[in-house]
Amino acid sequence: MRELIKQVSAAVGERRQNILAQLRECIHHNTVNPPGNEEALAQYVGDKMKALGARVEYQYVVPGRPNALCSFRFSGDRPCLLWNTHMDTVPAGNVPWKFDAWSGQEDGGLMYGRGACDAKGSLAGMMGALAVLRDLDLPLRGELLFTPVIWEEGGGKGTAHFVRTGMAGRSPDFAVVGEPTECNVSNAHRGSNRRLVVVHGVAAHSSDPDRGVNSIYRSSRLALGIEELHERLRAKRHPLLGSPVVSVNIISGGTKHNTIPDRTEMTVDRRRIPGEGPRQLDEEIEEIVACLRVSDPTFAYELVNLGMDKEPADTDPSDPLVQTALELCEALSKRPARLIGVEGGTDMTFLTNEAHVPTIIYGPGDMRIAHSVNENVPVDQVLEATAFYASLAALLLGPAGE
Ligand SMILES: [Zn+2]
Repeated sequence: MRELIKQVSAAVGERRQNILAQLRECIHHNTVNPPGNEEALAQYVGDKMKALGARVEYQYVVPGRPNALCSFRFSGDRPCLLWNTHMDTVPAGNVPWKFDAWSGQEDGGLMYGRGACDAKGSLAGMMGALAVLRDLDLPLRGELLFTPVIWEEGGGKGTAHFVRTGMAGRSPDFAVVGEPTECNVSNAHRGSNRRLVVVHGVAAHSSDPDRGVNSIYRSSRLALGIEELHERLRAKRHPLLGSPVVSVNIISGGTKHNTIPDRTEMTVDRRRIPGEGPRQLDEEIEEIVACLRVSDPTFAYELVNLGMDKEPADTDPSDPLVQTALELCEALSKRPARLIGVEGGTDMTFLTNEAHVPTIIYGPGDMRIAHSVNENVPVDQVLEATAFYASLAALLLGPAGE
């Protein structure tokens, strides 16, 4: 591994300017989702990959929004390594930035721009790694399928489409998802349940409240029950992801200042750890309501699924992919490697839960500044990630990778 890392790091060093210029170019493409507008970026990446010898296919998920499927074939059919990252970003926001959000300006070892770390740093790292692999011309086996996808922010529609339409006929043996982990290896992320809870009451004139049933009081009791639930959840713990959490985030109700309200709506966001099922929050709310019905037997409510759920995901820490990645991470960064958990959801969920592919998350930049003003990525981490992606591919697809 040491010899490989030396070779790869030297090649990354030689390509440094090229890798950073491509990252800047990726940032220049405004891919704020909605509407995404990923097509021009997909074309840009696809053209670069074709120049390196890839077969490139565009998989249109919706009109004008393609995943780019870039296939590099080596000797034999197996194994197949999948690289996934996303091209879209969240909006730049209304607060002025230190530098223009689409500039890719470098300052003090950081490159600034919307998407710099989430996830164009990973995108440019993977592009650079493929160039490095071509430069080194190592004897590799099988296939490396590099898939920059659309619409990860707020849905995961690109990767979901790729998985649910049969992964373009492939069955990958392992996958890497490029998202900011500060060049740490992650094998797990949280999932979510989001619900709208409609609480019903009975309207009446507020000069005589006893004739009605106040939906605001009912939903307040439910909201406080959810606050207590959050406290109870501290007793549950995942070694990397910590405790699950829950919160009430929007509440609205009532129609007139002199009318007892008969309808209140609130949204609840529940973050789940592996082992918690798709109906986790529904069951917890049902339990809280069952308690409330002891003193309020007619408590009436509906649960509406907001269609934004993601399943929590994890890959067994003893999986050879995770072990190889950790070993490589340690050798490359020269600091002790430890597995980390990712608190938000990622497209890994589709790869592990639906396609059952062992998957890790790895990329440059810090997830905590991902959606904030002055988003940036440390240039050194982009280069470290480039070396990581290239070396991991060489280890997994190389002659000793069996
Ligand atoms: Zn992301």
